Amino acid sequence: MSICPKRKISKARRNARRANWKMSAPNLVKCSKCSELMMPHRVCKSCGTYNKKVVVEVAQ
Ligand SMILES: [Zn+2]
Repeated sequence: MSICPKRKISKARRNARRANWKMSAPNLVKCSKCSELMMPHRVCKSCGTYNKKVVVEVAQ
């Protein structure tokens, strides 16, 4: 037999649990080359560099 919860979780308890997750603003860092705001550990959107090397050509 598989494990089973001993008691039913009431609607209030279940809804209170689900009400406690919210959106958070993304963490942004400045690009080391063009100082544009970008997501960390990702290729820069505006100059196409990662770790000070050009990895993607940005179409202008
Ligand atoms: Zn950049």
